[in-house]
Amino acid sequence: MMVLTLTIAAAIAGPAASGRVFAQPPAAVSLIITNGIVVTVDGNRRVLNPGAVAINGTEIVAVDTPAAVAARYKAAQTIDAAGKVVMPGLINTHTHAAMVMYRGLGNDLNLMDWLQKYIFPAEAKTVTPDFVRIGTQLALLEMIQSGTTTFADMYYFEEEVAKATKAAGMRGVLGQTVIEFPVADAKTPADALTRTEAFAKQFDHDELITPSIAPHSVYTLDAKTLSAVSALAKRLMIPIQIHLSETSAEIGMSQERHKMRPVAILDSLNFWAPTTLAAHGVWINDDEIALLKRRDVGVSNNPESNMKLSSGTAPVVKYRKAGVNVGIGTDGAASNNDLDMFEAMRQAAFQQKLVTMDPTAISAAEAIEMATLGGAAAIGRRQRLGSLEPGKLADVIIVSMSRPRQQPLFDPIAQIVYTSRGDDVETTIVNGKILMRDRQVLTLDASRVLSEARKAAELVRKAVQQ
Ligand SMILES: [Zn+2]
Repeated sequence: MMVLTLTIAAAIAGPAASGRVFAQPPAAVSLIITNGIVVTVDGNRRVLNPGAVAINGTEIVAVDTPAAVAARYKAAQTIDAAGKVVMPGLINTHTHAAMVMYRGLGNDLNLMDWLQKYIFPAEAKTVTPDFVRIGTQLALLEMIQSGTTTFADMYYFEEEVAKATKAAGMRGVLGQTVIEFPVADAKTPADALTRTEAFAKQFDHDELITPSIAPHSVYTLDAKTLSAVSALAKRLMIPIQIHLSETSAEIGMSQERHKMRPVAILDSLNFWAPTTLAAHGVWINDDEIALLKRRDVGVSNNPESNMKLSSGTAPVVKYRKAGVNVGIGTDGAASNNDLDMFEAMRQAAFQQKLVTMDPTAISAAEAIEMATLGGAAAIGRRQRLGSLEPGKLADVIIVSMSRPRQQPLFDPIAQIVYTSRGDDVETTIVNGKILMRDRQVLTLDASRVLSEARKAAELVRKAVQQ
């Protein structure tokens, strides 16, 4: 229709040489964010200062100068972002949202001690559908307040995670856990597979929720179950999320159990689905990097969790050189101990600079790219998420740049990565909907979420005292 109108207008106008310009009436859109410092993460990594983003419904329709956007669009609602950064929402590629309920429990331990002495026993006594809902809502509050717009999750009762996530307006790739010992929502791995199928059907083609299956790891599953997981993921066409080569202990356990390293056992089973997201990928050699690239496996780098548990450092620079899609994750808050993706982004850059002894290893711009477009690619959503471009889904955040620690402002990219925090996010938009405006979360009742979480924490306290 637009093209037709233009053609008629051009015909009436006669030859272009006449110099007359027929302006189109501005098109109606739902939201314009204008006058901000727009960090696009597009193909040219454009930063428009000032810039504007026009959103209609769930999609971004234009990213341009404020004048160009104002000339073409008229919005029902306008946000003036003068002096603030407007950027793609952050994609947390690995977490266990409800584990915020175990935040601060069992610190200063390695992964296996922490899991086996604290987390698995506490989970055995406390995880219920309601507990997962409460924990997820607390996590959603924290994530929306710190600029995360999509998270990849692995937990139990994942339908509760999905319901809470959808109600809060957040986007999630949500993985139903499969693990070999009896857990709260499944007595056996076969039960977990049945649950996964029901969960996938329940949220099939949902615009915010992508159901997924989450086999815990090669050290907590046998080959038969890993194969069954893969077959189900392929049949249902859902993404797989798995902890992969997180610690050196895992490599030993895999050698003992499967007579192969973790990547090799999975490859021998033809495990990889069209979208497979490997969390951690720390103890990975050069051949395995090449293989993960060939199999199009996305990797979630979790620097804070890997440092806190002394798991090691993922070879992020090598992954990126090989063309592997790398995103950033916080891991569960119990091993981080928060869900702040700004901090994760900063630590991802710092950790690589330290381990390679090269300050250019990961630049600030590359850290932002990993936390946005890289994450989108790692979860198989590069076409729709991760940058501010026309045609992409409208997942956008507005970040204050006016705090004392952010002044003076010479380089917005450096300021985002090296000085900003989740608390600096003022507005969070997912799928075109404003979830937080000027620090007010609009889709969750914060005081109710906090009081329910405090009550549920008493169950955890009792569980670990016994
Ligand atoms: Zn994890």
